[in-house]
This record gives sequence, C-alpha cells and structure tokens, in this order.
Amino acid sequence: MRTRQFGGTAHQWVDRSTGKKIIRYVPLEEVDFEERDWLPHSGWPITKKELDPYYERAHAACGLGVYSYEPETWSSQVSPQIAFDKNFIVNRMFHFGTGDIFTQNYRELIQSAPNVNTFLYASVYELVADETGKRITKARFINPSRKHFWVSAKQFILATGGLENARILLMSNQVQKAGLGNDNNLVGRFLMDHPLVRVGVIQPTSRDVFNPFRLYGIQKIGQDEVQAKPILSKELIKREGLLNANFFLLPRHYLTQFNLLRYLFPEGKSYVSKSVSSAMALSRKLRAGNLDSDAIKHLANVLLGLDDVLFFQTRKSVNIGRELEAFWPQNSGSEKAFNVIQVYSSTEQAPRPENRVLLGEEKDRFGYPKIQINWHWDEFSRSSFVKAATLFKKQIELVGLGKLNLEFDKGDPQLVTPSIHHNMGTTRMHDNPKQGVVDANCKVHGIANLFIAGSSTFPTGGYANPTLTIVALAIRLADHVKGLHKLQGF
Ligand SMILES: Cc1cc2nc3c(=O)[nH]c(=O)nc-3n(C[C@H](O)[C@H](O)[C@H](O)COP(=O)(O)OP(=O)(O)OC[C@H]3O[C@@H](n4cnc5c(N)ncnc54)[C@H](O)[C@@H]3O)c2cc1C
Repeated sequence: MRTRQFGGTAHQWVDRSTGKKIIRYVPLEEVDFEERDWLPHSGWPITKKELDPYYERAHAACGLGVYSYEPETWSSQVSPQIAFDKNFIVNRMFHFGTGDIFTQNYRELIQSAPNVNTFLYASVYELVADETGKRITKARFINPSRKHFWVSAKQFILATGGLENARILLMSNQVQKAGLGNDNNLVGRFLMDHPLVRVGVIQPTSRDVFNPFRLYGIQKIGQDEVQAKPILSKELIKREGLLNANFFLLPRHYLTQFNLLRYLFPEGKSYVSKSVSSAMALSRKLRAGNLDSDAIKHLANVLLGLDDVLFFQTRKSVNIGRELEAFWPQNSGSEKAFNVIQVYSSTEQAPRPENRVLLGEEKDRFGYPKIQINWHWDEFSRSSFVKAATLFKKQIELVGLGKLNLEFDKGDPQLVTPSIHHNMGTTRMHDNPKQGVVDANCKVHGIANLFIAGSSTFPTGGYANPTLTIVALAIRLADHVKGLHKLQGF
C-alpha cells in the first residue's frame, strides 16, 4: 500500500481495467470535523469552513476542473439524482483525476525549480533534536550504498505517508527515548482505515430503474470525470449516533458472472458457463412471464440467486475491484445489460488508541525496525455500520429502486477488505498535547520547528478518500510556514 519513490503512492493508482492511473477525490463532510459526543476522540481543531478555501486550491492542484462536489452541478434530466429523503440520505459527487500529476507533472516542476534541491534514493531514518528535545537540528539519511548523510534546516516537514510518519518519529529516539513528539504515548496510535464492506444486492423493481442511473457511474461531463454516491446525511448521523459511510451503487452487467468464471476456471470449463447461462435465461423468462404460481416464483428466485452466489464466491477469490465499475456507465442506455445493483460501502472507523503502528522486531534492508501494525475493526464501528446499512435499505426501498437484500454474516458486516490503503490517525491533530501529536497548524506539540503533512494528522477519517484533504492541509501548512519565514525575516 505504499511506494517508496518520487511521487509516492500515486504510482499505485492504476485502474486494472483501463491501465490508467486514476484516483478519486472528495472532501470530508462538515460533520466529520465536529466533536460527536457518541464518538470518543472525535473533533478536529479546525472546521470544514476553515479548510474550504484550501480544498478549492487542492482541487486545482490535483489537476481537477470545475470545483463542485454538489450533485446539483452535475445532475441533469438524463442523469438525475435519486430523490432520497434528505433527512436520511444525500448524494455527494466524487471527482476522478490521474496520478500523473504527482508522478510526472510535479516532478518536472520540482526538477526545474531553482530553489529546490531534491535527493532521490535517500531514506530518512532519524530526526535529531538538540539536547532540550524541543528543536530539530538535522535529519539523517541513508542511501542504497549505505552511505549516511544529514541535512540541517530551520524548519522540518515530515511527509512520508500515514504509516511512515509515525515510524520516523518513533525511530528518532536518541534524546527522547519514546520517540519524538511522544511524551504522551500517542505517536502511532489511533490508526484508522476505511473498511470496504459488501452491503448487498438490489433486485430492481423493473429494468427501467437502470437508465436514469448514470450519475452513479463514472462519467465524463465536459473536462471532468465524476460519480455520485449516496452518503448518510448529517441529520441522520447526529440523530442515530453513527459513523459516516458512503455507498457505491454498481449496476451489475449480466455478463459479469461469465467474465468471473474465467478467473475461477482458467482452463475454460465452458459447460459451467453454459449451464449458468441457460439457468439465467430461464429465470428471466420465468420472471418476465406471469408468475402466478409460488413454486415458479421460487424457482425464478433460486435461479437468479445462483448468479449472486456465483458472483460472491468468485469475488472472494479474485480481486475484481473496479472491473465492475468499468462496465458502468459505458453500457448505459441499454437497460437490458444489467440485472441487479451491487452495493458496497466504504465506512468510517472509530479512532481507537489500541489500533496502532509500533516498531517491530524485524529489520528493513538498512537494519532499521520495520513497522508492526495492531489493527482491528471494533464492535462500535461494526454495529454503527449495520445500523447505517439497515437505514439505507429502507431508503432504497422507499424511493422505489427495488429490494435491497442485505448480506450480513450472522448480523455482522461482510468485509471485502479491511483496508483500502487509507492510513490515517497515527500523528493525530488536537489542540491539547495530551490528546494529539500535532496542533491545528500540524506542528508537533513541544517541538518548535517540526511539522507533519499527511493523513496521519487526521483525528477522524469520515468516509472520504484522504488525498484531497492531505493536499488541502499541505497547502495550508505551506502558507503557514511561509508566514513564519516572513515573520522571522528569511
Ligand atoms: C492502490 C491504492 C489506491 C488508492 N486510491 C486512492 C483514491 O482513489 N483516493 C485517495 O484519496 N487516496 C487513495 N489512495 C491513498 C493515497 O495513495 C494516499 O492517501 C496518498 O498517496 C498519501 O499521500 P502522502 O504524500 O501522504 O504519502 P505517499 O504518497 O505514500 O508519499 C510518501 C512519500 O514519502 C517517501 N518516503 C516514505 N518513507 C520515507 C523515508 N523513510 N525517507 C524518505 N522518503 C520517504 C516516499 O518515497 C513517498 O514519496 C490509494 C492508495 C493505494 C495504495
């Protein structure tokens, strides 16, 4: 989930189906910044409103077009919003961009900048503090030929990713034995991700529901690529005491199961494919006919269910990820192409001190401790999700999309994956040094000249993919540090 390379983890943003390096962007919600009395350790020392101007600049810095995450900007008569009751569910737009901006464009800009020196193949392994422990004097590096060198500076900004930021602080233990900024034993704690959950399948009331569904697939509008997702409304979150969550609605192409069979039976067992195909055809015929007999109705459901069982079994053994999304909405306009709507969710995880990054026993190639991660998906986060999904089901059915069959496992949500590579929280932001590693300016508490950039500073993670917020906070930090330099007459 991390890439030690110029451009960082942006190198990983490859969409398997198109080979393009693409990434989704969305800001955190207003409620994500607030202290929620049902959620211990929630509350940012800054508000969404304060961060908004930086989100707008981050949007441009990420190479995106029209700055709007509101569905009203993007919906139209041909691609309308689903009219959810806003007291429960609202729609939010996600933007898509390419990783090239980080791996190429900024590389060129940095390379040609007269006031920037870049050292590649240089791994920082320690920040050295003076004898008071309150000021960093240098950063120590090692290169692949095991040559050590150091860099001194007036200000230091640690921006090595959500896990590595904590590791470097913990490894910097010459003066402060527990590591830098770790007087209150917080560095590395509160690790959060966005667990990806399989919610269930919507059996549509009729095929007509698919056509006005374009807004929920990735589509190009002007120069922008956008996609709508239903999210929990602020009112619902507050009323029910929930964590945040978003829902992906993925119309499933009737060919999907056959494509997936190729993964399950790479040798090409065509008879399996043929018999599933005949079963599907029969079930559709039965459904299309006048189902006045319960037995026939039951048979039709069993056969249609076969599709789903097959899909789920295959999903467990192959990471099909966005392959499904690629079908949609390129194939829209042909409602016959889809049979059900698959629902996934990426959800907020409660910040818990026991979920943490530690220095492990194993060593990296330079002899420095590798990271050990203790992480679990706690009971509150799981039960909050079950409640949210159950409320979402009701709204889906109320707007007449169809019946959402929830797929909990003995009442528990079914994880597709515990991590979608969003490592947050390990150097959390709080005004009180007893509750956070950095302050509202992302400065490490108790150290005059050390700042942190990245999702490790997030006290809570909402449902939002973190990069837009990382960039917004980085721009805000750059302004702050520039301000300091002006004040100090650099
Ligand atoms: C497959 C995948 C898909 C993703 N999709 C999305 C998405 O759609 N939307 C989204 O918002 N986020 C997504 N993410 C998460 C996103 O990649 C990260 O949130 C983001 O890259 C973090 O940025 P960063 O600059 O803080 O860290 P990184 O991108 O990890 O960059 C850290 C940099 O620090 C350098 N570094 C690390 N350690 C050291 C060291 N010891 N010494 C010197 N340099 C060091 C690395 O070389 C790298 O250049 C995805 C992640 C993955 C893996």
